[in-house]
Amino acid sequence: GPAPEADGPARDWLRRHEARFGHFIGGAFRPSAEGGTFETREPATGKPLATLASGTTADVDAAVEAARQAQAHWQKLGGHGRARHLYALARMVQRHGRLLAVLEAIDNGKPIRETRDLDVPLVAWHFLHHAGWAQLQESEFAGYSPLGVVGQIIPWNFPLLMLAWKIAPALALGNTVVLKPAEYTSLTALLFAELASEAGLPDGVLNVVTGPGETGAAIVEHPGIDKIAFTGSTEIGRIIRETTAGSGKKLTLELGGKSPFIVFEDADLDAAVEGVVDAIWFNQGQVCCAGSRLLVQEGIAPEFLMRLKRRMETLRVGSPLDKAVDMGAIVDPVQLRRIEELVAAGIKEGAVAHRAPVALPEGDGSFYPPTLLTEVHPSSIVAREEIFGPVAVAMTFRTPDEAVMLANNSRYGLAASIWSETVGLALDIAPKLQAGVVWINATNLFDAAVGFGGYRESGFGREGGREGALEYLKPDAWANRRPREAT
Ligand code: NAD
Repeated sequence: GPAPEADGPARDWLRRHEARFGHFIGGAFRPSAEGGTFETREPATGKPLATLASGTTADVDAAVEAARQAQAHWQKLGGHGRARHLYALARMVQRHGRLLAVLEAIDNGKPIRETRDLDVPLVAWHFLHHAGWAQLQESEFAGYSPLGVVGQIIPWNFPLLMLAWKIAPALALGNTVVLKPAEYTSLTALLFAELASEAGLPDGVLNVVTGPGETGAAIVEHPGIDKIAFTGSTEIGRIIRETTAGSGKKLTLELGGKSPFIVFEDADLDAAVEGVVDAIWFNQGQVCCAGSRLLVQEGIAPEFLMRLKRRMETLRVGSPLDKAVDMGAIVDPVQLRRIEELVAAGIKEGAVAHRAPVALPEGDGSFYPPTLLTEVHPSSIVAREEIFGPVAVAMTFRTPDEAVMLANNSRYGLAASIWSETVGLALDIAPKLQAGVVWINATNLFDAAVGFGGYRESGFGREGGREGALEYLKPDAWANRRPREAT
């Protein structure tokens, strides 16, 4: 196969910092006020990767202070002034695309093919798109003002992309940011902040505070923050909602999912098989909107599952820097154990596991093979709980009504995917699904212009497009008056 991606520049960047990083506050790295640190490891090898600062309330104070000081000037720049900075960030991501993609693959364990072809281009696109909203702010959002300082907490599955989804709209519309990346994957956020500063982003506009959940809690509780935007588990989302209740902070939550992937008997089966590969084995299945519940119409189920198993056998699991691999490493041994435990619980409840007989890399990396569970009862734990790994769970249905019922039989409501060659059927089913996004004959498509978000326990609020922009604005008091009264 092709030579592995050269990781020299990313390793050089780590070495230049002696693999030790402070928080990025007010345009510079600084250690934790209380001196706390923690270690991160490389998912594919288990080897130590970097020592990071562990943020406490004192660090969050400093970051909020820097963000507050920067905000007035950032707001006064106006939409066009900020758009120039967002275009500069997009160009910066493109210029350093290879470095960002390689560091992301090393830090998260996802394949270079994905970080290079999806994560990094989608990040650049998100900044370009939001540069447009910045330019349109005065005309499109007359009567609205920025919120001020926003606290943003993100997960580890798409470190750079989640950063972009959070900071692009916030910055475009005149807010400044205190961002906490996930503890497993903070490196690309730190590199991004450093590069952004070099690209002329004013000090204090983007602050990155690293650390575990406690650091996130310090952000959530900070009185100087006007909004919390959180992406992560439903469990933590619930805590954050309780903590912020009555605080006056605006809140958006992007939480978990157990999204249905519905295959009707008239579907193009080969296309649907490729769809499943994208839905559940892309990013090792660590995708909030992963099509993890495979619902197949009874008549085609044996044939479809046979083709799917055959396709599973061709997937390659290996080093994230190998350009030919389809699946890399699971982000951390803790997550790997969680996947193993859930699959074992499913088997105990009667599921049959088909693990692709693929070679897994030797050594201390965290790897899990592509897996399909069949004979799954809808009430089984693996049909209900988010596994957040490369494990598809298959069930069958007889009629379209039954497909809708099974699809909606979930506490989540993030995404859904319908496969049928009958457009009328697909368009009839789509609005009946309780999901924030419905894809037809497609899956995992993301568009910076389209609001992404959930229903029910998948959270509320939207990211992207006009709706996402409004999440970072508040109506001015005068705009709430009826025109007649506004004298
Ligand atoms: P997590 O909730 O454990 O952690 C997410 C972030 O919250 C991390 O930065 C973590 O340090 C922080 N955190 C932990 N405890 C906190 C607390 N008490 N207060 C404040 N912050 C705290 O989730 P995870 O394991 O990192 O990510 C996986 C989850 O994220 C999955 O459920 C997945 O579906 C979800 N997710 C959702 C979306 C979406 O857009 N809906 C996107 C990606 C991931």
